[in-house]
Amino acid sequence: AESDIAPVLTTRRDEAMGFFERMVSKGLGWARKYSLFTYPFATACCGMEFMSVAAARHDIARFGAEFPRFSPRQADMLMVIGTINLKQAPILKRVYEQMAEPKWVVAFGVCASSGGFYDNYAVLQGIDRIIPVDVYIPGCPPRPEQVLDGLKLLQDKIGNQVHRVGHRGSAPHDLLASQYN
Ligand code: SF4
Repeated sequence: AESDIAPVLTTRRDEAMGFFERMVSKGLGWARKYSLFTYPFATACCGMEFMSVAAARHDIARFGAEFPRFSPRQADMLMVIGTINLKQAPILKRVYEQMAEPKWVVAFGVCASSGGFYDNYAVLQGIDRIIPVDVYIPGCPPRPEQVLDGLKLLQDKIGNQVHRVGHRGSAPHDLLASQYN
């Protein structure tokens, strides 16, 4: 449903912006989508596929998402990779909150997306119950090609968002919440 309304929202925002503001926004979006710094929150078997997509054969560096950062303050893309149990959930939320705006979240694999087949009392049934998610990558585990597809989806989304110089609170979630809800 969100993908159906996204072009409408983009058009309305474009109409509300001046020419130079729109050009700056597009330039910032282009720069941001090809310079993503990943925080890999890896907890389980999907972590092997993350290593695969980052290694030479699939080489995620080709798409501008080369550097994993192990401080949330240095990252703008949170990749949640693997099963998240209820005891880990507050830690994940804290990591998300420590990341500076703008920031984006990818749910890597079915466990992060929905709990997967761990439908039990101990496992979080999808990380979107505690933090907003921009892209869901299905699969158990997803193949590296799927991960790259998910990354390109996220890059398209970032490219279509509004970006402003010196306005660090212009993350998609804040923007949609403040202007369109
Ligand atoms: Fe493991 Fe499958 Fe869950 Fe990934 S989605 S963490 S491979 S059980």
